[in-house]
Amino acid sequence: MTVIQLNDNDLFKTQSYVAGQWLAGNATFEVNDPANGERIAEVSEVTSAQVATAIAAAVSAQKSWAKLTADQRARYLMTWYQLILQHQDDLAMLMTREQGKPLAEAKAEIQYGATFVQWFAEQAKRVYGETLPNPALDRRISVIKQPVGVVACITPWNFPSSMITRKAAPALAAGCAIIVKPASETPLSALVLAELADRAGIPKGVFNIVVGTDAKAIGEQLTTHPDIAKFSFTGSTHVGKQLLAQCASTVKRVSLELGGNAPFIVFDDADLEAAVDGAIASKFRNSGQTCVCANRFLVQQSILDEFVARLTTKVQSLTLGNGLDSASQLGPMINRKALDDVHQLVTNAQQAGAKVVCGGKKPESQSSNYYPATLVTHVSNTMSIAQEEIFGPVATVIPFKTEAEAIAMANDTRFGLAAYFYSRDIGRCFRVMEALEYGMVGINAGVISNPHAPFGGVKESGIGREGAAVGIDEYLEIKYACFGDI
Ligand code: NAP
Repeated sequence: MTVIQLNDNDLFKTQSYVAGQWLAGNATFEVNDPANGERIAEVSEVTSAQVATAIAAAVSAQKSWAKLTADQRARYLMTWYQLILQHQDDLAMLMTREQGKPLAEAKAEIQYGATFVQWFAEQAKRVYGETLPNPALDRRISVIKQPVGVVACITPWNFPSSMITRKAAPALAAGCAIIVKPASETPLSALVLAELADRAGIPKGVFNIVVGTDAKAIGEQLTTHPDIAKFSFTGSTHVGKQLLAQCASTVKRVSLELGGNAPFIVFDDADLEAAVDGAIASKFRNSGQTCVCANRFLVQQSILDEFVARLTTKVQSLTLGNGLDSASQLGPMINRKALDDVHQLVTNAQQAGAKVVCGGKKPESQSSNYYPATLVTHVSNTMSIAQEEIFGPVATVIPFKTEAEAIAMANDTRFGLAAYFYSRDIGRCFRVMEALEYGMVGINAGVISNPHAPFGGVKESGIGREGAAVGIDEYLEIKYACFGDI
């Protein structure tokens, strides 16, 4: 009997989905609601033999899946897409219960994640080759694109549904089979996608989900197996580097979507109200647990006081509470360790001279995961709170004087995922956009991700892009064919 009431209770799954079967393991692990600690599920730990079965099933299924026409694969994906939308309320409920984000945000994530399935169903039909100019009269050159083969991926808890569809949809559209290992905090949002893939009729072995808490062991199996051609990871830079090294042993194709340290620059010619609204949307979505969240607000000295005053009013008005309560704008953090890490950064900053304008207090109860929306000023770019990814509901403000200084500070980090700035000067908009060493730049926009655009980072924020027309290329090999004696 589940403690989560769904419209369709068959969507509540607690076992790995391998070769079209739900498999029990030898042990279980608990999934707890971060809002109140309630145990909401006991999930079966996948065994290493089951992971091996998933790989073998994917190898076998991929061959026939790749032989379908693009239209046939697209039809399966469109059915999956429609089922996700049809059951979006249940999927959102599962997500809020295991991840904590407010129900409206969870539903928005389900819809956002589903659009990748729709987009790549359409893109399956646009995997075009090329005919190139002849180097000699008796020769012709063709270039075709083929699926890389079997794909493995590991995904995080902060976007437990869309980080899976953003990888699985292009992989399946390209003709690959996939094995997904989701975060152990949020297995239910992953397993429900498998149930819907099953209902969509996606052939057995094409889409597999393995759930377990021994991420290191499962990761090793997936990153070193010779039959896996491609590995895609979304998570922390630290873990991503380890997995990249592990993939070297079999020279896998690798895509990495890693951490960020987004600057959000507000120039004195900006529309301040729009900048403050963008700041709130960028910083406090998902309680600040987003890789593209603004991490540092760089504000031009002449508008510093005005910006801080307006931002303070909005930050103080954010409602913290259980994601099931429709009034909540900020849910709990994923777990107590995440909360403690964020608070430590705030404490370190205070000790180094920063000032907490609002928030910044730990909850009294040791078991609570609720951290208040916090604003910290008098921050310098060298403090740990500015150099590390905060990953919590804490906004930091750093003043600057000139455009050149803002760009230099913005780029002074090993990360390069998303950056944002607000300005109404068109010349400045081009100059600053081009100078920022980031994979994505929001100009007068605080939320920028969508399936039409290439999502990804430079420097230590990652390799490759997800979404957009290029998103499917991550799952395709290029074959050059030279026809002679013509
Ligand atoms: P994480 O600790 O790196 O975990 C991510 C995934 O990796 C989870 O499935 C985790 O499994 C697994 N994992 C952990 N250690 C592993 C190991 N040694 N070998 C194999 N797998 C391992 O990151 P997180 O704390 O969940 O997520 C937050 C990070 O993800 C942030 O840095 C954020 O910026 C980044 N992120 C990036 C993007 C992007 O698109 N660039 C999007 C979302 C998040 P368990 O859960 O079982 O430990």
